[in-house]
Amino acid sequence: MNILVLNCGSSSVKFQVIATDLELIAQNSDKRLARGMLERIGSQALITLQAEGSAKIKRAAPIKDHRAAIDFILRWIISAESGIDAVNSLSDLHAVGHRIVHGGEKFSKSVRIDLDIITGIEDCIELAPLHNPAGLRGIRAVIDLLGMAVPQVAVFDTAFHSTMPDTAYLYGLPYPLYRRYKIRRYGFHGTSHRYIAYRYRQQTSREKGDVNIIGLHLGNGCSASLIKNGESVDTSMGFTPLDGLLMGTRSGDVDASILEYLHHKEGLDFGALDTLLNKRSGLLGISGLTNDMRELLEEEAENQDRRATLAIDIFCRRVRKYIGAYYVEAGGKIDDIVFTGGIGENSPVIRERICRGLDSIGLTLDDSANQATHTGRENKISTADSKLGAYVFPTNEELLIARDTLRVVEDAPRRW
Ligand code: AMP
Repeated sequence: MNILVLNCGSSSVKFQVIATDLELIAQNSDKRLARGMLERIGSQALITLQAEGSAKIKRAAPIKDHRAAIDFILRWIISAESGIDAVNSLSDLHAVGHRIVHGGEKFSKSVRIDLDIITGIEDCIELAPLHNPAGLRGIRAVIDLLGMAVPQVAVFDTAFHSTMPDTAYLYGLPYPLYRRYKIRRYGFHGTSHRYIAYRYRQQTSREKGDVNIIGLHLGNGCSASLIKNGESVDTSMGFTPLDGLLMGTRSGDVDASILEYLHHKEGLDFGALDTLLNKRSGLLGISGLTNDMRELLEEEAENQDRRATLAIDIFCRRVRKYIGAYYVEAGGKIDDIVFTGGIGENSPVIRERICRGLDSIGLTLDDSANQATHTGRENKISTADSKLGAYVFPTNEELLIARDTLRVVEDAPRRW
């Protein structure tokens, strides 16, 4: 089955075409055929397209909305220019899988999209006002462009965390607010945490129920998750992705009273406070330079920039704090920590700085394995005799979305 995977953001669409079936999944040999991205939808869009094994194509074109973006993608996929052998007409695309950010309490697994499901995703808009409408635009565009007969599946970023107990997902707020408005921790990056748990299980030859790890997705957005017996039982992102770890531009945990204080001191309204916390904080806010970890590391090395170092140190300390909290919460029954995301996959130095001091809970990094692990490599990066181990698994959310789509369409049980 050739599956189009769509990830619609507020002004962008990322896509992949993945060929998969149950046999290919069993052999772990499903294949990506193409990928790409359209950014700045609504004006002159920047477009990157790449068929597997071919060079990247860069374009710019006026793209007015998500429908036009998906139309552009579909035309390119079936064109002679893309050269994708397996897809020559729209009928060679057999299903579409969508990354949907928020499934609220309604969706705990991936589902085939019908009118009721669309209504359900609409009901979650309040919880993700920027993200869910974009996902819905993508679903409607596909109905319009490919017709109702092509099956579509929604894969939710929150779903993997739906196994958290109430003691993990409730905030210390009056309980009626949870009942009335469903204010609680939902967690995000769920498909990524699920993917690394799945790869970990495969690579360490474990059963799902034997997976006891702390997952660290460290990219521009960052989250930690505690995975016990193969299920998410706690995670650092909360009601929104703002909570938890320090991120590129998000603050992570802050004392909520600071907002009222800032309102009085600087006259900031809710919109301005939201921008401050989500767009002007984190690595960017502390360094005053950039949200990009690579650039911060360069500033530190080349110019000994004090605030770059401060931002990096706060970032690493916060990750360490969550590792400690989850390790204790799991009663020490954690076999490994697993890094993923742009920073987690590619930066030996940040992994080393995070793990400094974790020898107190039995983690000894293997320096040469750590240094050698970047740019897409999977590896164990702790020593053979380390009591607590560490791994790097590059995330692949699109692959899980394609597999979920196939399984839902074929009504086959999901193994993870
Ligand atoms: P993501 O959101 O997963 O794409 O991750 C983006 C983040 O990964 C940015 O902060 C990048 O600077 C960071 N990143 C990517 N490659 C490296 C690297 N080699 N060293 C440090 N950070 C990196």
